Amino acid sequence: MNLTDTPEEEEFRARLREWLGEVLPTLPPKPSPDDWPGRRAYDLGWQRRLYDAGYADVHWGASPTVRLIFLEETEKAGAPYVGAGFVGLLHAGPTIAAEGTPEQRARWLPPILRGEEVWCQGFSEPDAGSDLAALRTRARRDGDDYVVSGSKIWTSHAEVADWCELLVRTDPQAPKHRGISWLAMPMDAPGITVRPLRTLAGSAEFAEVFLDEVRVPVANRVGDENDGWRVTMVTLSFERGTAFVGEVVACRRVLRELAGEARKNGRWDDPVLRRRLGRLNAEFRALWRLTQWNVSEAERTGGVPGVGGSVFKLRYSHARQELYDAAADVLGPQALDLDRPWVLDRLSSLSYTIAAGTSQIQRNIVAERILGLPKGR
Ligand SMILES: Cc1cc2nc3c(=O)[nH]c(=O)nc-3n(C[C@H](O)[C@H](O)[C@H](O)COP(=O)(O)OP(=O)(O)OC[C@H]3O[C@@H](n4cnc5c(N)ncnc54)[C@H](O)[C@@H]3O)c2cc1C
Repeated sequence: MNLTDTPEEEEFRARLREWLGEVLPTLPPKPSPDDWPGRRAYDLGWQRRLYDAGYADVHWGASPTVRLIFLEETEKAGAPYVGAGFVGLLHAGPTIAAEGTPEQRARWLPPILRGEEVWCQGFSEPDAGSDLAALRTRARRDGDDYVVSGSKIWTSHAEVADWCELLVRTDPQAPKHRGISWLAMPMDAPGITVRPLRTLAGSAEFAEVFLDEVRVPVANRVGDENDGWRVTMVTLSFERGTAFVGEVVACRRVLRELAGEARKNGRWDDPVLRRRLGRLNAEFRALWRLTQWNVSEAERTGGVPGVGGSVFKLRYSHARQELYDAAADVLGPQALDLDRPWVLDRLSSLSYTIAAGTSQIQRNIVAERILGLPKGR
């Protein structure tokens, strides 16, 4: 693994830094967390700027190293997060780029890159989360369409999405991993009902999605019929492998800000707190190195991240929770004030050990696929 930039990477980094320095001060104010149409417009507006400046396809068009430089520099500069573009740019887009037909790539990728369309992820169901292959949403073939009925849950951004990457059961007789297909479902199709779910942080980040005889063209299937589980593994490897890496840089920034706040409010005198922040600093540095290792592995093996993403996801999600617990320690009683910085982040950090596969599931993957331990029963 070579950790130094090549001359081309160095130039890319310098150009990006300069562009961020010019463009970030001109951005409009961020909308409130509950203003979903506003958030959609803001996030897509940022994506459009990236597109116009030639940076839009970095998530799947560029080499993993260039993508890492992009994430590192945008986070360092405090640029907007992908937000409502998360599924399109970091799951569905890379999956379609890797697995879609030329027609599918031409239909769906440019609008994601130009910041015109939002995607959501319809994988989980009330009885299929960790055991995703137990999903029951049924797709019956009728001419050139699938007719889809069932329900999804925890569908992030469903309220403002144009498309849903949807897992459906196309062969109920086959063993559970072999009867699944991956569809792109238009969210304005008749028969779709979206019911938002409110989190303890107060905003509706995700929703239940009910599907009643929704017609989805067969041409919207990515991969072969009943081969959706393999396609899903590609999607999840992007989610665990690269979707969170920019956040490590953001966490290191928060850590520096926390140390600054502790110096101001007197908490810095506490050696236990200082040791805690020091240990977290080492942890996030190690996570960044792990990211670089994962990225160079992905580069070596053709661009799709490997199971190393599970090691990263497991450790990162816990480190993030520890970071925001330390923030509460620094803030003292103000940690109960939702308007203080870091307080909402602390609440949302609780979801990190559940979303994108729980910690127990990541441990199972590490045990079975990296350490070669026997499968649990
Ligand atoms: C913020 C957030 C956003 C999300 N966004 C989306 C989204 O956009 N689209 C989507 O489809 N889903 C989304 N999810 C859902 C997420 O993928 C699931 O919550 C997750 O996979 C866990 O499934 P579950 O909630 O059904 O829990 P369960 O699978 O019921 O698990 C319950 C508990 O049992 C443990 N457990 C289960 N099986 C095993 C096992 N084999 N070994 C050891 N322990 C086990 C789990 O670790 C967990 O502690 C989101 C979740 C969150 C929190």
